[in-house]
Formats: sequence, C-alpha cells, structure tokens
Amino acid sequence: MNLAWQIEQYFPEHILELVKDISKQADEMGQRVYLVGGVVRDLLLGYANFDLDLVVEGDALALARQIAETHQAKLIIHPRFGTAKLSYGDFTFDMATARGETYACSGALPTVVPSVLNDDLIRRDFSVNAMAVSLSLNNYGDFIDPHKGKDDLERRLIHVLHNESFRDDATRILRAIRYEQRLNFKLEARTAQLLGRDIPMLDTISGDRLRHELELIFREKCPELAINRLSELGALQRIKLPIKANGWIAEKFDKARRLNKPRQLLSLYFCLLIYPLDEKGNEQLLYRLKISKRLSRAMRDTLLLKAKLFLLDEPHMKPGDIYYLLDEYDPLAIQTNAITSELTVTSHYLQLFLAKLRNVKTSLSGEDLKEMGIAPGPAMGSILQILHRAKLDGEVNTEADERKLVLLLKSSDDHSAIE
Ligand code: ATP
Ligand code: MG
Repeated sequence: MNLAWQIEQYFPEHILELVKDISKQADEMGQRVYLVGGVVRDLLLGYANFDLDLVVEGDALALARQIAETHQAKLIIHPRFGTAKLSYGDFTFDMATARGETYACSGALPTVVPSVLNDDLIRRDFSVNAMAVSLSLNNYGDFIDPHKGKDDLERRLIHVLHNESFRDDATRILRAIRYEQRLNFKLEARTAQLLGRDIPMLDTISGDRLRHELELIFREKCPELAINRLSELGALQRIKLPIKANGWIAEKFDKARRLNKPRQLLSLYFCLLIYPLDEKGNEQLLYRLKISKRLSRAMRDTLLLKAKLFLLDEPHMKPGDIYYLLDEYDPLAIQTNAITSELTVTSHYLQLFLAKLRNVKTSLSGEDLKEMGIAPGPAMGSILQILHRAKLDGEVNTEADERKLVLLLKSSDDHSAIE
C-alpha cells in the first residue's frame, strides 16, 4: 500500500514542503527516513495531528541540523538519546535515530521491513502506534505495518505487541486507556486480560513517570473518561488514588473546563481528584506522584478549606469577613472548592473572592500612614487591616475617605493612650 496521495491531502502546504525537503536531503545524505507513531495512526483515521515523529536510519542529528539551517527552524538536540526536536511555527518534528543494530541477514526478516526500523517499531506500545510510512525518495509513501496496526485500526482495537508489554513498561496501562477513551476503541481481548493481570506492575513505575502519564490524560478533551475507566480497572487505586468511578468526577471536570483557563486546568484536575480523600490519603498520593511543592500546597489547602467551608454558608456575609476567611488559602484550592461546593451561597462567596475581593487594595500604604504620624508596629498593622476591611465592605471609597478614617482611628488611639 502506498500513502503518498494521502500525505498530500493530509498535511498543510508548509508542513508538506518540509516533509518533502527532509525526504530529499535524507536521500542526499544516504539516509532513510520514516514517519512513525501517532501521526501515521491519525493520518489513517483522518484526524489532524501535526506533531510529526520521524525515525532516521542513519544520523537523525545530522539531518535535523541540516533541516533546521535551511528552514530556520528552532532546534533542540539530545545527543545522549540521538534525538532532535525541530519546531517550526505551530508544529514540531521529533527526529530519532532508529535504535537497534543492522543485521545483514538475508531472508530472516518478515516482509520488506528494514531491520533497523523494525527494531524501532517492535519496542512500541500498541499496534496502532507501531506503523510507519517511508519518506525515502525511492519508495516515498510506502506503508510499513509489521504488527498489523491497520487491521486493529479498522476493528478499533488497542492491542499490545507481545504478552510482556505491560510488564516491560506499566505506564502503557495508562496509555492504553487514554487511547481507548480518546479514540473510542476497545481493548483487544488478550490485551485486556494482560492489563488486568499486570495492574500490580504499576508499583514499578517512578512517581515522575506516573505523574507525566496522568498529565497526558489531563490534556485530553474529556480526561474523566479515562479516569473513570482506570478506576473501574483498579489502576487508580494502585497509584494511591482510591476514588470511585461515578458521575461526580465527570460533572466537576466539566465545570472546571467551563470556568477556567486551559493553563490552570492541569493543576485543578489534580485538586479535584483528591477532593474525596482524607489528609493521610492525600499525603500518600503527593509522595507517590512526587507532586511539586507549589501544587502540593494547593492540594493540601483544598482539603483544609473543605473542612472550613461550613463557615461560609450564611447569607449576607460581609465581604471583609469573606476575605479574611479565605486569604490564607491557595487560589487553586479556593477555585476547587468553588467547583465542588453544592451550596450556591458558598460557591458564590468563593468566586467573589477570586474575581474581586482578592484584588481590593487600600489607596494608603504603611508609608502614607507613617507620614500621617503613625509609628510602624502592631498598631499600624491593625489600622491597615481596619482600612482594608472598610474598603472591602464599601464603607470607604476614596483616598480622602481613607484619610478621614485613619485620623479618626488615630485620635481614638491617642485618647485611649492618654486614659
Ligand atoms: P499522541 O497523539 O498522544 O501524542 P503519540 O502516538 O504521538 O500520541 P507520543 O506519546 O507522542 O504518542 O509517543 C510517540 C510514539 O512513541 C508513540 O506513537 C509510540 O509508538 C511510542 N511510545 C511512546 N511511549 C511509549 C511507551 N511507553 N512504550 C512504547 N512506545 C511508546
Ligand atoms: Mg505525539
């Protein structure tokens, strides 16, 4: 099968130009180059994907340098791994030197798959991610599919390449479910059995790698699908996230997407996931996933605030009281509680704090108070706080109002000092 025509139709003009140039320059350097992985899968499915993965039989770094120079693309090189990343406008090219040895063994290999590419494909996670298309000039567009990925695409199946796949790398458990849910595929029957068998292998994966896979799930359009499925399979429990698969996560994740900027979503999903846990459960998860200090604070605060939320359920609370109840918590924790709170009034107070109250500042500073004859110290601190509360509650509006209030407070202070 040849996909040259599909390639023409699939890529935008500027990517196509680069693909063709890579093909030409590789040929001049005597290297063979292939499109591999997700982009081949998505090309066959007709889904847009402009993160191109290329495998080069030869020297990917030399080819990447040459292309970066002729096209003024940004280039990042990892010599240790033999990989390079080219960024060009809104798309990236990952180029890797095919791993494995070239063996000049005649006839031992199946079909026409070059041995080096074959070695590279066999290390991959699923058949639908282990297909390749040649970009070499003499067989440009030839489809290479040693693991029958195309059959699995047609049957809509996620299929591991061998029985030890999840044992070799248990992050593939999370990957399998991510693709299953994204593409609306099913796990192939044997793959499903192996996945069930190998759930305990998640214990062998480092916190960083597990967290990274969860973050990839969180970048999906509807991460709750994979989250619920992983919970049903007992995989989440295995990574210290003992949450139940139910409509709650779906509802809250959806609300988070409607209320927040995409930039914040990743952290917010983490805070939402631990909402049903207790403090000890949360600590175990933070440790297991090596969560950063910054996010750990937000996750801890989420539970601390949850325990104090009953203080925010009265109607007609004063803005100053709301502010000084919430001031000490991480904004992400406040946002999380605003999403999870079932009480309209509480949720409203939390949103009010985030949208407005936390930005309210007095016009006068400590410096101004000093000029008005107030000495730095606890007394000045409490005057500043009274001012701030008055501003929040709308009792003072202008700088003149603030000065008046300061003078009043100062004189009552002077009086009490005399008495
Ligand atoms: P996506 O659309 O999610 O980016 P992708 O297929 O491009 O899908 P990447 O995570 O970018 O996925 O990885 C690129 C390729 O590398 C995959 O298609 C797969 O062949 C291979 N790969 C990635 N992670 C693993 C893994 N843990 N085990 C085996 N192969 C992997
Ligand atoms: Mg990719």
